[in-house]
Amino acid sequence: MMTKNKHPLSLYVHVPFCNHICFYCDFSHVLTNPKTIQDWLSALKREYEEKKIAHDLKTIYIGGGTPSALDVDTLEAFLSLFDSHIKEIEEYTIEVNPESITKEKVECFLRHGINRISMGMQTSNDALLKEIGRTHTFEQTKQAMRLLKEVGFTNISLDLMYSLPKQTMEDLVASVHEAIKLEPTHISIYSLTIEENTVFGKKGVKPLEEDLEADMYFKILELLPQYGYQQYEISNFSLPGYESKHNLCYWNYEDFYGLGCGASGKENNIRYDKPSVLNAYLKNPLACTSIEESKEEQTFNAFMMGLRKKEGIYLPSFEQTDIQSLFGERINDLIHEGLLERNQDYLRCTKEGLPILNTILVRLLD
Ligand code: SF4
Repeated sequence: MMTKNKHPLSLYVHVPFCNHICFYCDFSHVLTNPKTIQDWLSALKREYEEKKIAHDLKTIYIGGGTPSALDVDTLEAFLSLFDSHIKEIEEYTIEVNPESITKEKVECFLRHGINRISMGMQTSNDALLKEIGRTHTFEQTKQAMRLLKEVGFTNISLDLMYSLPKQTMEDLVASVHEAIKLEPTHISIYSLTIEENTVFGKKGVKPLEEDLEADMYFKILELLPQYGYQQYEISNFSLPGYESKHNLCYWNYEDFYGLGCGASGKENNIRYDKPSVLNAYLKNPLACTSIEESKEEQTFNAFMMGLRKKEGIYLPSFEQTDIQSLFGERINDLIHEGLLERNQDYLRCTKEGLPILNTILVRLLD
């Protein structure tokens, strides 16, 4: 495998609070409550102090939950924790929801060195937003976008969802066009999956037909490049130069620190998960479960993540014997079937292969 840096150059921090629960969500989150938030912040400070994170980070990603659901004083105290890491920072992202940002919060982001925003738009159709349990309207997304730009943010990513209950192809096309009109630099797309432990799962809501879901994915693939958004990962598109550096660290299978209730990290071939239940985290913010990956697991996981990228994986970073012993003839079989292809030193999914990446991975693991 490729030579690694001495320590991770990326940090993920999880903020587990939301103001409401979306009907499809199975992320680690709890409803906002001022007392719990202060306890969480104290626990996070303790974890941060013990962790000894390197100062020369290249990327930080504050995800959730809904980081923008914190009030401005809490955000100030929370973001101050990372001030000493931003001297060499290239990309510093925070996730926000349109209904929970204010001018004071956005100015606070900027003061602490944040230079990229990831906002959950999901769809431009207000009835569909309601249907999936979002509490904002599309008008609020437009206002939030205006505010972010006025305050000075130039790198803004929007999340769009497809295959929503009752969503039609016309709805989807309208949402994509409305998103483009807002001129984000990056667009991430998510197909609705219904997990058992979500509101939708408990209500027995059924996903759209698989064929329609696939048609929607291909429609997005057709539309976004027409407006300059190039696909660089199975679900991610950007204007040139605006690919997410932090997420590329995951897809390149590099190490990253994970901090906070519900976070995961990977350091020196050890993957770890912080407690996802807030009470457990508050009791012991240093607790985590970890697994040391074998060489085989590292190779497979690096393939699994790398094949998500349109450019694929850089083969010289792997030992040929590792690839041969792990995958045998299966890579060649998939190449013959037109699902994988070699392009100089890269192995990547073909146009036909990328949408069925999971099937390819199951075959590779067989
Ligand atoms: S989708 Fe996001 S905002 Fe909605 S409940 Fe989940 S984490 Fe919170």
